[in-house]
Amino acid sequence: MKQLDRCPCGAPAEYPACCGRYLDAKLCPDTAEALMRSRYVAYVRGRTDYLLRTWHASTRPPTLDLEGEPARWLGLQVRRVEAGGPGDRHGVVEFVARYKIGGRAHRLHETSRFVREDGRWFYLDAAV
Ligand SMILES: [Zn+2]
Repeated sequence: MKQLDRCPCGAPAEYPACCGRYLDAKLCPDTAEALMRSRYVAYVRGRTDYLLRTWHASTRPPTLDLEGEPARWLGLQVRRVEAGGPGDRHGVVEFVARYKIGGRAHRLHETSRFVREDGRWFYLDAAV
């Protein structure tokens, strides 16, 4: 598989068959981990519409501006998943995302919390 075809989330799948199903085909991820991965891809691709759409109403910012944040995302590694399955109401995903800003490498290590409402997973908040 060519590097270009790979989904940016790191899964061994092509984008249209992976996170593209959620970002472009408007399907809803059935696990918290799948939502987390698709939100990472939304950051990579500057898809603020998707980030807002998958953000829980109680914590969602009114707008999201990724301008002025020229991060080049390098990769995602999911470290730990708690609950977050199709039958759960809550989920926790711990991950490390690597990126570069102005040639300097950074690491974002975050534990995100997710909730499921009416059959859809939403991002709730994070403990860095
Ligand atoms: Zn993906």
